[in-house]
Amino acid sequence: MIEAILLDIDDTLVDTRGAFRHALLRVADEYLDAGADPEEVLAHWRDDRGGWYRAHTRGEMTHREQRMRRANDLHATFGGPALDHEAYDIWDEGFERHFREGWRAFDDSAALLDALDERGIPYGAVSNADSAYQVLKLAACGIQRVPMLVGVDTFGVGKPDERVFHEGCRLLTVDSPTTAYIGDEPDLDAGGAQRAGLHGVWLDRPGTRRAGHGEAPAGTSRIEGLLEVLDLLS
Ligand SMILES: [Mg+2]
Repeated sequence: MIEAILLDIDDTLVDTRGAFRHALLRVADEYLDAGADPEEVLAHWRDDRGGWYRAHTRGEMTHREQRMRRANDLHATFGGPALDHEAYDIWDEGFERHFREGWRAFDDSAALLDALDERGIPYGAVSNADSAYQVLKLAACGIQRVPMLVGVDTFGVGKPDERVFHEGCRLLTVDSPTTAYIGDEPDLDAGGAQRAGLHGVWLDRPGTRRAGHGEAPAGTSRIEGLLEVLDLLS
């Protein structure tokens, strides 16, 4: 029986993929070959083929370093110029401005929160981005009622490190076995939560998978929309 809910933010509550699309269309316009397919550019960005964002969440690389590497890899793949530190600063100012402009909650996010509020189910966010940044993002999306519990800055590492899931439970004063963690990445989110002793739930929104995402790890649940979370409570 699930009595509490921990939530991922990016591509779970917030349509981060849509915001990246918005930012990357501007990047493509300004920097990349005219023939670059926007969907391929977006997929390339999200796939993080060099594993640099993952390295950042393991505490091995700063946020700036991972993003600069990804920007240069994107440019190398789609015909953009190599960015030195100065050129990257200008690139990132535009990228970040358009990324933020694109921040939107999914349609079912507020509906889930309403239902959880109505039932008195405690919830909060555990994310692999910086806590203060995620507080801004939640507010910009109108879902600031979600308490930002644990970010990559809390321990200097992110999911799937078990500590971040346990800290989320501790801050909500709930027990791991009766808490579900919902996120869009099958291994990092659902699998990581499961290994930490929570109930892992993979949110597999139709049409939004990253390369390599294909199966929910054993023992986890798979849902296609946030309101399906409510079925876990009954
Ligand atoms: Mg996510």
